[in-house]
Amino acid sequence: MKDVDYFKPASLAEALELKRGLGEGAVFLAGGTDVMVRSRQNKIAPQALISLRGIAELRGARLEGESLLLGAATTLSGILADPLIAQHLPVLTDAARVMGSTQMRNVATVGGNVMSAAPSGDTLCPLLCLEAVCHLVSPEGARQVPMHEMFLGPRRTAARPGEVLTHLAIPLPTAGGQASAGAFLKLSRRAALDLALINLAAQLWLNPDGTRIEKARLAAGVVGPTPLRLTEAEEALTGALPTAASLERAAQGLGNSCSIRDSHRCAAWYREEMLRVLLLRAGALALQRLGLSLEVAA
Ligand SMILES: Cc1cc2nc3c(=O)[nH]c(=O)nc-3n(C[C@H](O)[C@H](O)[C@H](O)COP(=O)(O)OP(=O)(O)OC[C@H]3O[C@@H](n4cnc5c(N)ncnc54)[C@H](O)[C@@H]3O)c2cc1C
Repeated sequence: MKDVDYFKPASLAEALELKRGLGEGAVFLAGGTDVMVRSRQNKIAPQALISLRGIAELRGARLEGESLLLGAATTLSGILADPLIAQHLPVLTDAARVMGSTQMRNVATVGGNVMSAAPSGDTLCPLLCLEAVCHLVSPEGARQVPMHEMFLGPRRTAARPGEVLTHLAIPLPTAGGQASAGAFLKLSRRAALDLALINLAAQLWLNPDGTRIEKARLAAGVVGPTPLRLTEAEEALTGALPTAASLERAAQGLGNSCSIRDSHRCAAWYREEMLRVLLLRAGALALQRLGLSLEVAA
């Protein structure tokens, strides 16, 4: 790796000005767990690094109205330690818990995971299910991109050059006393320090008397060039009984709506089969978290 200039601005305004002045050779750095690895692999060659780590306004979570605002530079350990996130967004806590190692979770950020846009990114499916909105800022102004419009391809996002992701606005699934719970599951060859062979998040809402699934949000990773919402399965669950049989029906033919491929890490047929299994298990876990007792055969 060549020598690079390193900047550590103390404010967002300073970071944006630096980026504007330095141009496309300058790269934002959050935890650096993607940037540094890809630089050493010569996949990117930044001339300057602009660290976002000294910018307090990009870190932490707070409630605002019926949304949780999650700073982009919040580390995965920060997510795990946050009682608000544990209480309202267990689907995101599930994902942060299985990412990398303790050392990596102490520096890697949720914003870095989103902006890296890897098909296997573990926080991406939970954020898709939670219908998070990305807040982006550049010297030209601020704008918002819904999570389902954020991913354009492997490692390509809808963010424009020079934009910083400041935070994610996440509508609380339990707003207005709604019965909602989520779960995230990841299949990998090792329990730690391994990317997902496939991952899946489910967020389910029950109707007021708890007898039907009122709304379902499902998303899977490594089933195509970007993480994908599983809209056909969501529709199959909407209005269905909260049972294992409903989950089984929704999981049928799931692979048809994805573009699952063989890779050096795993065969397509196995990914397709495990997509079904993860949906059954994550759906069951979400319903168990809502106090329902059900078992799935898979
Ligand atoms: C050993 C190891 C294990 C890993 N395990 C996992 C895993 O289990 N699951 C998983 O999903 N990933 C994993 N990763 C990948 C990586 O750690 C994650 O994607 C992580 O969340 C990246 O965050 P970061 O803060 O380190 O990003 P950085 O490397 O700092 O940045 C990544 C990209 O995002 C941009 N960026 C960062 N923050 C912002 C912002 N606020 N605004 C605009 N652009 C920004 C950077 O310019 C860069 O392009 C692993 C990596 C390593 C090295």
